[in-house]
Amino acid sequence: MTDTRPFCHSLFEYRRNKTIAVQVGNIGIGGNNPVRIQSMTTTNTLDTEASAAQAIAIIKAGGELVRLTTQGQREAANLKNIKEKLLEKGFETPLSADIHFNPNAAEIAATLVEKVRINPGNFVGGAKKFDFEAHANTDDAQALAEIREKLVPLLDICKKHNTALRIGVNHGSLSDRIMARYGDTPAGMVASCMEYLRICRQESFHNIIISIKSSNTRVMVHTVRLLAATMHDEQMAYPLHLGVTEAGSEEEGRIKSAVGTGALLADGLGDTIRVSLTEDPCLEIPVAQKLVQHIAQRAGHQPIPITDTTAFHPYEYQKRKTTRILNMGGNEQPVVIAPAHNGLDTTALLQPDYCLAETGEKKWQVINPKTGESYKLLDKEDLWQMGDAPAFVLLNYADLSQTILAKLKALKQVVIIAESYHTTAPAELRAFILTLTHWGINNPVIVSLSYESDDLETFQIISAADAGILFLDGLADGILLSNRNIPTQRIIETQFGILQASRVRFSQTDFISCPGCGRTLFDLRETTRDIKARTSHLKGLKIGIMGCIVNGIGEMADADYGYVGSGPQRVSLFKNRELVAKNLPEKEAVEALIELIKRNGDWIEPK
Ligand code: SF4
Repeated sequence: MTDTRPFCHSLFEYRRNKTIAVQVGNIGIGGNNPVRIQSMTTTNTLDTEASAAQAIAIIKAGGELVRLTTQGQREAANLKNIKEKLLEKGFETPLSADIHFNPNAAEIAATLVEKVRINPGNFVGGAKKFDFEAHANTDDAQALAEIREKLVPLLDICKKHNTALRIGVNHGSLSDRIMARYGDTPAGMVASCMEYLRICRQESFHNIIISIKSSNTRVMVHTVRLLAATMHDEQMAYPLHLGVTEAGSEEEGRIKSAVGTGALLADGLGDTIRVSLTEDPCLEIPVAQKLVQHIAQRAGHQPIPITDTTAFHPYEYQKRKTTRILNMGGNEQPVVIAPAHNGLDTTALLQPDYCLAETGEKKWQVINPKTGESYKLLDKEDLWQMGDAPAFVLLNYADLSQTILAKLKALKQVVIIAESYHTTAPAELRAFILTLTHWGINNPVIVSLSYESDDLETFQIISAADAGILFLDGLADGILLSNRNIPTQRIIETQFGILQASRVRFSQTDFISCPGCGRTLFDLRETTRDIKARTSHLKGLKIGIMGCIVNGIGEMADADYGYVGSGPQRVSLFKNRELVAKNLPEKEAVEALIELIKRNGDWIEPK
């Protein structure tokens, strides 16, 4: 049976989800505090000067909390020196220690910095063995007792020092026991998180922030919604930290982050965010700021009226059932419609499926640039003059009167372009499409959004945040973005990027690259650039590029190929999760990766 429990205040009125406020040093997270922006250093935490300098750079860029990798007790102890260095220079911004596998390091860090992050997938039980069968009959009560044994002393230290705790679940690093029970599913991630939360509650410890991250935006959005609903059922309201892990770099990383994080922020979830890019961490901050500002300006709007939301599935992907018209709807992948025929670069790799073209007298048509075929673009009055030929109609939510809806139900050859200029456009388009479904109208829907920003990065972030959610929820059959201040080809690339980030249409290689941290073992940024330059054309393939082996294998769980740091300037290569080449010198590893792809028959020569 479909789970229809609410996960947010409203699907049609933007309002922040109510959470408790948690004090992390001099900032509050959750409650009525603004959505806080944070990042993480990529330096060696034993290097006090470098770590303090990078933390300061992040703070100056606008970071409100800085996380540092804390592999072991030595790194944990050195947080004291980094903290002192920052205070000496006048920076009181709270620090967070990022702990995996090492409860002892967590206990030291909890006495020195304002927040400690632990990962339920590896806080107890040591390194992951991927031997799920061995855990099929593990006694949960015993496993919980082991968690308690390690967690309660940490909670006691946090209570004493007023330290906040982030319980940070990752899709790729669930424990073997949870994997044996649930697989790497949203239910498994939520179960893993709830085990820790219940212990915290039994211990009357509430200084908690939660994150559940994945590099798969669909999994991430469904899981965080499920967590919010589950917490609500158990009368918990802990603040949420959002982020798409291993989002990658450049435009791809920005769009993927905006799709995943933007979808959750749009429904009021999220109290702090980090955009993870394989770039200088300071560059993450403006992306996060743009995203947060774009969503925050929606506060206070009138709720969007709608009567029936039963066709909405918040916790699993279900594509809205539509009738196929031309190559839209049915089982077709979503289409890209370019906003103008002029300015198309016919030599570019990414070509739109359709484009708008003016026919004169303010009339428009839709052209298939490959075949040259054209279709009328109607407005609502034209619906009564429509013949049998396929056509498009441009409508907004206010147009959906009973008369129009009844007419649309009878027209089996019209593709609907649903446009919105609402400040909360995704919610209005969601209402639009759910209303069609309520009326039994199965025509494909193209979502149309217009922007003015002449800054490409801003345009990409806000359009991805607006449109992505409609594809993550399986509601839309195509995308049409307009912005007269951005060249058409860049708009087309953005549209393809949004579809790829929403996992509904893959037009180039999917890269899962980690942002790097103090554990990184090779030149991650340069290598990522190199691998991308040589393999971006391998449409449909997923390549994971991970800075270290400790979390790398698990975190790139669904990649076809993995390039993972295994020692200083050493790299291991994986096919799926299987190790195929061990400890290659960094200089040879990219070439070896390409050879591996070729040997497995997945290589095609770039055009
Ligand atoms: S995969 Fe390793 S290097 Fe990359 S961010 Fe995660 S812990 Fe750091």
